[in-house]
Amino acid sequence: VSRFKMSVRSGSVSMAAAPMLTKLQQDCATPLPVLRNVAASMSDDIRAGLAVDGGSDLKMILSYVDSLPTGDEKGLFYALDLGGTNFRVLRVELGGKDKRVIAIESDQVSIPQELMSATSEELFDFIASALANFAHKDGNFPGKKGEIGFTFSFPVKQTSIDSGILIKWTKGFAVSGTAGKDVVACLNEAMDRKGIDMRVSALVNDTVATLAGARYWDDDVMVAVILGTGTNACYVERMDCIPKLQGEFSPSGKTIVNLEWGAFSKGLPLTEFDRDMDAASINPGEQANSSFNIFEKTISGMYLGEIARRALLHMAEEGSLFGKSMPEKLSMPFVLGPYLFRNPTIPNCCRTPDLSTMQQDGTEDLHTVGSVLYNVAGVESNLSSRKTVLEVCDTVVKRAARLAGAGIVGILQKIEKDTKDAIFGKRTVVAMDGGLYERYPQYRRYLKEAVAELLGPETSQNIVIEHSKDGSGIGAALLAATNSKYGRNL
Ligand code: BGC
Ligand code: MG
Repeated sequence: VSRFKMSVRSGSVSMAAAPMLTKLQQDCATPLPVLRNVAASMSDDIRAGLAVDGGSDLKMILSYVDSLPTGDEKGLFYALDLGGTNFRVLRVELGGKDKRVIAIESDQVSIPQELMSATSEELFDFIASALANFAHKDGNFPGKKGEIGFTFSFPVKQTSIDSGILIKWTKGFAVSGTAGKDVVACLNEAMDRKGIDMRVSALVNDTVATLAGARYWDDDVMVAVILGTGTNACYVERMDCIPKLQGEFSPSGKTIVNLEWGAFSKGLPLTEFDRDMDAASINPGEQANSSFNIFEKTISGMYLGEIARRALLHMAEEGSLFGKSMPEKLSMPFVLGPYLFRNPTIPNCCRTPDLSTMQQDGTEDLHTVGSVLYNVAGVESNLSSRKTVLEVCDTVVKRAARLAGAGIVGILQKIEKDTKDAIFGKRTVVAMDGGLYERYPQYRRYLKEAVAELLGPETSQNIVIEHSKDGSGIGAALLAATNSKYGRNL
C-alpha cells in the first residue's frame, strides 16, 4: 500500500505520452456520423447476407428455430452451454403456463486452458463427463432418456435444428479436428464413449438461446446480443425477407437468424494496435492485410484489455509513460483482462476484471488503478500516469461500446424498414447477456448512449435494452422442449 502512496508523490509522467494519447483518442473517435455509417452498413450487410450465402461479411445463419417458446413447455430438460470461458450443465423442470420454471439446477466450471487447444475428442469427452457427473448427481441417470438443448457459442452452419457444422473456432479456442464436423455428432460419439444415453434435440448459438430464454418471459423481445468473451447478435426475421431460404416456410412465417456479427468490418475506426493485436491473435486474418472477426476483436471482452495493453506499452516505450522503468510484464500479450479472461502464463492474475476495476476507482490518488497496474502488469505508477491509463481504458471501452450500440441500431433499422408491423412505434426489447455487458457499467452506459443518439429521443423510449441474465441456459432447455423428439411427458 505504502508503495503506491510513495510513487504518487514522486516522479512525473513524460510529456511525450500526451500526444500519443491524443492520437489514440482521435483514431478511436466515434462521433455520430461514424456510428450512423456503421449502423447503415450493418443493415446493408444483413440484407446482402440474407440474399445469398457469402453475400456479405455476415453469415446470416439460419437457426432452424422457427417457433419460439410460448410458456406451455412442460417436462424435464437438460442444457449444455459451451461458452468462451465457462462450461455449464443445467437441468430445468418446466411446468407450463402457470408454473413456468419449477426447478433449475446447474453446475459451472471454467474451461481448463489446455482444453482450448486440445483435440476434439478430448474437448467433447470433457463435456460428456461433466454431463454424466451432473446427471448421476441428480439421480436421473441412467433411467429416462434425457433431452438436451446444446448451446454452442461458435459459428456453426446449421444443417437442421439438431445438427450443424463448426465453421471455425473463435475466441480462445484452437481445438484440433472439430472444424468441418457436425458438433452434435462429436458430442454423441463422446456420450457413447462414456455410456450416456441422452440426445440432443436442439443445437443453438448462445444468442439464439438467449433470445428464446428472454422471449419466454416477454413477447416483445426481437433481438438478442451477447457481449462477453466474444460477441454476436441474432433477431427474429420474417421468412419472406430471406431470399436464400427459397420457399421453406414454417407456419409461423418467422425464424431466428444468427448474424455472426463478429465478422462485420465496414467503417470501423481502427488503430495500429487493433491490427497488431489481430495479427498476433490465435485466429488472425489469413491473407496479408486481412483481419479475422475484426468487429469482435474491437468490441468484445477477450480483446479490450489487450488493445489497451498495446497502447500503454507503446506509450511506455516511446513516451516514458511510467518514467524510466520498463515494466516487463506489460510486454506480455493478454496480461490485462477486461474481465474473466485467463492467461495460463500468469497464475491467478487474470480472474480480475482489470479494466472494469480500474474504471470504477473512486479514490483520489487512483489507488485501485495503481494496484491493478502493479499486481497485474508489474507497473509502478504515479497519479499522472494513472490518469493516462484510465484515459486509455476509457477510449478503448467507449469505442467498443458505441460500436456495439451502432450494430444494434443497424439490426433494428433493418427490421423497421423491411417489416410491415414496424417496431419503432411500440415497445421492442433487445435482450443482452455476456460477462462484459454484465460486469462493466461504463460499457453499458456508453452503449445505451450511442443507441439513444442514433435513434433520437422519441424512438429510443420504445427500445428497451435489457439484461437477460442466464437466459441462454433456460433458453436452450426451452428449445429442447419445443423440439422434443418424445413429446412432452418425459
Ligand atoms: C462466436 C459466436 C458467439 C459469440 C458470443 C463468437 O466468437 O463466433 O457464435 O455467439 O462469440 O459468445
Ligand atoms: Mg455464455
